[in-house]
Amino acid sequence: MYIPFLDVKAPYLELKFEFDAAYRRVMESGWYVLGQEVEAFETEFAAYCEAGKCIGVANGLDALHLIVRGYGIGAGDEVIVPANTYIATWLAVSHAGARPIPVEPDEVTFNINPSRIEAAITERTKAIMAVHLYGQPADMDPINALAKKYGLKVIEDCAQAHGARYKGRRVGTLGDAAGFSFYPGKNLGAFGDGGAVVSNDSDLAESIDLLRNYGSRIKYHNEVVGFNSRLDELQAALIRVKLTKLDDWNQRRRQVASNYLHELFAQSGLILPRVPEWADPVWHLFVIRTAQRDIIQQSLTTAGIGTMIHYPIPPHLQSAYVELNYQNGDFPLTERMAQEVLSLPIGPHLGNLECLRIIKSIQNVGLI
Ligand SMILES: *Cc1c(COP(=O)(O)O)cnc(C)c1O
Repeated sequence: MYIPFLDVKAPYLELKFEFDAAYRRVMESGWYVLGQEVEAFETEFAAYCEAGKCIGVANGLDALHLIVRGYGIGAGDEVIVPANTYIATWLAVSHAGARPIPVEPDEVTFNINPSRIEAAITERTKAIMAVHLYGQPADMDPINALAKKYGLKVIEDCAQAHGARYKGRRVGTLGDAAGFSFYPGKNLGAFGDGGAVVSNDSDLAESIDLLRNYGSRIKYHNEVVGFNSRLDELQAALIRVKLTKLDDWNQRRRQVASNYLHELFAQSGLILPRVPEWADPVWHLFVIRTAQRDIIQQSLTTAGIGTMIHYPIPPHLQSAYVELNYQNGDFPLTERMAQEVLSLPIGPHLGNLECLRIIKSIQNVGLI
């Protein structure tokens, strides 16, 4: 029996009746873009995040890009980003015309290391974009303290962390504004693309509301040079169904993570994720580190177990960023992580027996 890395169809099967009803409701409404479903979702997701505002957009990259634009950050400006992240974090900055300035991660949390940020700040720095990578919240207090000291905006990339908490507070409310993705594989995933900006800053929320819809508040009156980045009614209706289950599904992810942590801790040669006492992660990914990554991945593949690498090439070494002139060796921690990380299957529909088989398969590799 093959164990996929993630079963994205399982949520549909679990709530088929509710999804089908939502589909029919939208189809029969005759209204398909920016309507009642999007508005209802925005209200519900803002409440879920314990935040003031939510604006639905087309995807997670747009959410982050529009925040950068919304704060007037562009050509000649710099934004601090993690060196160790998915490339979308950097692209959001680049698309606004600004330059991403990478900072190395903390080895325990894999997230941006706050103690290395100050050295990267210049007079051109306008914001710090923190990422809650793998669903583990970044250490936001020192980041906010630096932002305050230098007058910077703090933007959270929450694409992997729907529902996570930092010192009791939901991610998405820890900085000035946050971008979420509803790509199907995320903890809250649509059946297509989707995203949202969450913020307590109502001026920013208003800018995003304009930017996502051709810069227009009143049809055919365009106040700014806007984009077309709207969340559609069907995706909104479908993620409203999933939102009712998000806490349960995150809880199940915690159980899977706790099984892995409990059963694999004695495995030599593996570095397991560690959770700081201030963090309540949502385990978008369960990422182990090992110098024998390729051997373990190969034997899991042979055992019929899907794994992935998040991420094999850091943004600074991608051809997309040759113009920034980074070399191998510029961000050694990030580069080593790219060689050593391996993501094990995790998700709300991964059963205990499957989990056990994955654990046994890893333990067997260790014996060789
Ligand atoms: C998925 C992801 C994004 C982008 O989201 P899309 O909806 O795919 O545009 C941004 N940042 C991180 C860390 C992500 O994992």
